[in-house]
Amino acid sequence: MGKGMIIGAIPAVILFLAYLGYRPMPLVVLGLVAGAVYLLFQSRSGALGVGKKKRLQRKDSVPNISFDKIGGQYRSKEELKEALDFLIHRKRIHQYGIRPIKGILLSGPPGTGKTLMAKAAAHYTDSVFVTTSGSEFVEMYVGVGAQRIRELFQEARDQAKKNQKNSAIVFIDEIDVIGGQREGSVHREYDQTLNQLLTEMDGIASDQEVQILVVAATNRKDMLDSALLRPGRFDRHISVDLPDKKARRMILELQTENKPLAPDADIDQIADETFGFSGAQLESLTNEAAIYAMRDQSDVICQRHLSEAIDKVMMGEKTDREATQEERERVAIHELGHAIISEVVRPKSVSQVSLAPRGQALGYVRHHPGVDRYLYTREQIEQQIMVCLAGAAAEEQVYGNRSTGARNDYEQAGRYTRTLIEAGLSDLGIINKDWVSYETLHRESAKILKELHEQTAQMLNQYSEVFSRALDLLLKEEVLSGSRFRELLKQFAKKPVQMNR
Ligand code: ADP
Repeated sequence: MGKGMIIGAIPAVILFLAYLGYRPMPLVVLGLVAGAVYLLFQSRSGALGVGKKKRLQRKDSVPNISFDKIGGQYRSKEELKEALDFLIHRKRIHQYGIRPIKGILLSGPPGTGKTLMAKAAAHYTDSVFVTTSGSEFVEMYVGVGAQRIRELFQEARDQAKKNQKNSAIVFIDEIDVIGGQREGSVHREYDQTLNQLLTEMDGIASDQEVQILVVAATNRKDMLDSALLRPGRFDRHISVDLPDKKARRMILELQTENKPLAPDADIDQIADETFGFSGAQLESLTNEAAIYAMRDQSDVICQRHLSEAIDKVMMGEKTDREATQEERERVAIHELGHAIISEVVRPKSVSQVSLAPRGQALGYVRHHPGVDRYLYTREQIEQQIMVCLAGAAAEEQVYGNRSTGARNDYEQAGRYTRTLIEAGLSDLGIINKDWVSYETLHRESAKILKELHEQTAQMLNQYSEVFSRALDLLLKEEVLSGSRFRELLKQFAKKPVQMNR
């Protein structure tokens, strides 16, 4: 009998009882309480993923994503494929008495394609794909998590049999939620869940009808309980990193395959300007660019749409915050300060100066990173610090005072200073930061910042005319491209004072 029929029958029964002379009120109250308890349990178990509906929603057959659809990650893909070959050639593995690989741990920042890799792994090995996420186990009743894990593995076996596959991949995203370290009383509520997962993994053998491989993803590998990382459990670790320039270009190409690009769209340049973007951010960038093109009623996505989409992904959507004219001027001076020093210390590094408020910022300079860089010298970090300090220094030069607009800049400058000191590049020499007093660190950091601030202010002195010329333009046009800004700089910078010999 359907749920609808039961619900429909209830009022009829109540009316009938009333007709027979019974008092239906206690029954109604009892019914309501029972219904509320039932609904509560349903919604709880639904949230836990135990509900039947949830099971039906999940797509369980082999995913249609191949490794070719994942840009970059060359080394990770190779490592993963190598491990997966164990699943494909399982008979030979069994012959040699090699124990099967039971778990693969993918670790890396969010949005780098870990889920995609797990799906591609299922595609590559022709396995069914069953998935869950650590977050589904949050606020579970004791024991329900363990039951959920049991069901998950059972479901993997059932699905494989139903689809006539002999292997299944169980993907657990955000494994750190259930697999966090079990020291002290922290995470105790997840103990049973984790134990059940370990038990299921221990039960995997190479001669089973359906071979199960557990793939887990985390961006907090350091948080995981050592029991999970022991041999025979998640003993293959593959790191999935942020893409380098070549990989970014490839991801952008993949993500724009189904989008109409204008001939002027320069994917290579966009890849150049998106250092530090994850695959998910690049996907979002191409999507936003397409939305901008549609808003513009342009048939194709042009370079300016892509460029604006970078700003959107980096800084957030444009806001309607109405700044006063006075504030706008100050923001313009501040941003020009950043831009001037950036160009001086690293020519061609400014890609755009903008006065359009986005996210939390009233204006911003988009930098062009040049080449992807992972190592920095003292000089390079000092230059970065000077770029950070230049906004406030410019305000000081023009107005004689600073504003709260430099707060984030100082935070960032502080982070760079810390890197400088901890990497042994400051005048303190090579140090162990745990053995140096807080005062010493603070004094050194203040000294570095003061010296660099003075140098920055001196440098900016030579560009007073650039400020006045660029200010009007920026206030009028809101955006100055890097090349336009460089022209102004070339034209109006004071010639450096020649030293008399
Ligand atoms: P993670 O699991 O690491 O958080 P996902 O695999 O969920 O990241 O990636 C989210 C989305 O970002 C994907 O659906 C895809 O559109 C895009 N993406 C991420 N990395 C890549 C990549 N290397 N190649 C192509 N697309 C990617």
